[in-house]
Amino acid sequence: MELSLIEKSKTYLWLPFTQMKDYDENPLIIESGNGIMLKDINGKEYYDGFSSVWLNVHGHRKKELDEAVKKQLGKIAHSTLLGMTNVPATELAETLIKISPEKLTRVFYSDSGAEAMEIALKMAFQYWKNTGKPEKQKFISMRNGYHGDTIGAVSVGSIELFHHVYGPLMFESFKARVPYVYRSESSSPDECRDECLNELEELLKEHHDEIAALSIESMVQGASGMIVMPEGFLAGVRELCTAYDVLMIVDEVATGFGRTGKMFACEHEGVQPDLMAAGKGITGGYLPIAVTFATEEIYRAFYDDYETLKTFFHGHSYTGNQLGCAVAIENLRLFECEQIVDQVAEKSEALRGCLRTLETLAHVGDIRQLGFMCGIELVQSKETKQPYPPEKRIGYQVSLKMRELGMLTRPLGDVVAFLPPLASTTGQLEAMVSIMKEAIDEVTSGEL
Ligand SMILES: *Cc1c(COP(=O)(O)O)cnc(C)c1O
Repeated sequence: MELSLIEKSKTYLWLPFTQMKDYDENPLIIESGNGIMLKDINGKEYYDGFSSVWLNVHGHRKKELDEAVKKQLGKIAHSTLLGMTNVPATELAETLIKISPEKLTRVFYSDSGAEAMEIALKMAFQYWKNTGKPEKQKFISMRNGYHGDTIGAVSVGSIELFHHVYGPLMFESFKARVPYVYRSESSSPDECRDECLNELEELLKEHHDEIAALSIESMVQGASGMIVMPEGFLAGVRELCTAYDVLMIVDEVATGFGRTGKMFACEHEGVQPDLMAAGKGITGGYLPIAVTFATEEIYRAFYDDYETLKTFFHGHSYTGNQLGCAVAIENLRLFECEQIVDQVAEKSEALRGCLRTLETLAHVGDIRQLGFMCGIELVQSKETKQPYPPEKRIGYQVSLKMRELGMLTRPLGDVVAFLPPLASTTGQLEAMVSIMKEAIDEVTSGEL
C-alpha cells in the first residue's frame, strides 16, 4: 500500500534542528506559496512570519524571480568556478561590490551562511601567514554569537544549547561579551556598552599578538534571541580591532540585504569590515548562494606566483551556481526599483507601533526590533525578569498556537522571532502581530 505523504515524511526524513519526536506529533508539509503566504498539503494557509527562516524578501513566486530562473535555464544550470567563471557570477559580483561597504572589493562565493563564515575564518588565518605574522592564529568571538553549524562556524559561536555537545571538536577562541541590555545589571545601555568595550580592550591588550580576527554578528545577535546591540557598540568594536591590528569579520548573513532597514546593518554605524559574510536574503529566498566579501588588502596578500603557495585552497562543488546568481541579480534589481530598503525602514516604524500592543500582555518581558528583525522575550515574571523553566517550552507552545491560528515562525527558546518578508504590507504586518498577540496571550495566560 502506498504511504501517505505525511507517513513518508515520518518514515524517511530527518529534519534540521528538529527533535523528530516533536515532528511526528505535529507534522507539516508545505506544498505551495504565494506572496507572503504558505499553503500546506491540506490547503491550510499560513503567513510566512519568519520568511522561511529569515530568507524571503519579495514573497513567494515573485514573477520576476521565477522568470530569471527560467531564463537562465535556457542557457545553462551550472558550470564550475574553479579556475574559470560564468556570466551571472561575474555580473553579480560587480553589483555586490557596488552595494557593499566601500572597502570591500572582492567577492568569494559559497552555498550557505556557515560556509561564508568558514571562508572568512580561513582567509583571516591565512592572511597573517601570507603577510609574515604566522603567530596570529587565534580568534575572538562573541558570547551568544551564532555563525552557522559547520565546525569552524560553531567554534566561533557560543549558544550553549547548540554547541555544548560538540565542544571537544572545536578550536578554542577567546570569548567577549556583547551587551544584552534587557538582562544587564548596568544602569543604562551606554554603561552596558562601555563595560563590554572595556573588557574587550583588556583582552586585546593582552593577546592581540596572537589574534588573527574577531568575529561578530552585525548589530543584532539573531539566533540567541534577536539581541539588538546598543548604539555605538559595533563602531566601538571596529575601532578596537583597528587599534590592535586584528581583522574584523562581520556576519551579515541574517542582517544583510535590507533586513534591518539598511542594505547591510553595519551601515547603521558606518562600520567597514575587513571580511563580511552574507547569504540568506541574497537570492530573495530562492536558491542557496552565500558570499564572503574581502578588502583589496586581504585579496592582495594571496596574489602571487603559484610557487609561493599563497593560494586560497578552498571551494565547493556548486560555488557560483548560475541559477542562483541569476536570481540574485534579479533580486537586487528589484531591491533598487522597488526601493525595498527604504520601504523596510519606513514600514518598520509602523511595525514598532504595532509591536507596542504586545506590551500589555502579562508575560512579554522585552520587545526588541531593528527593521524587520524582531524578538519578543517571554518571561514568567515581568517584574523580576524571571525566565520560564525551559521544560515548559513556552516559545515552542506559542509557535504551535500560531501555526493553528495561521502563521509560521520558529521560536528561539522563549523568544518569539518575527522576521516577516520584506515586502509585507503594513496591513499584513498588523494581521501577523495580532496572531502573535492572540497566541502569546492564550498560551501564557494559563501559565503562572
Ligand atoms: C543563518 C545564519 C548563519 C548560517 O547560515 P546558513 O545559510 O544557515 O548556513 C550564519 N550567521 C548568522 C548570523 C545567521 O543568522
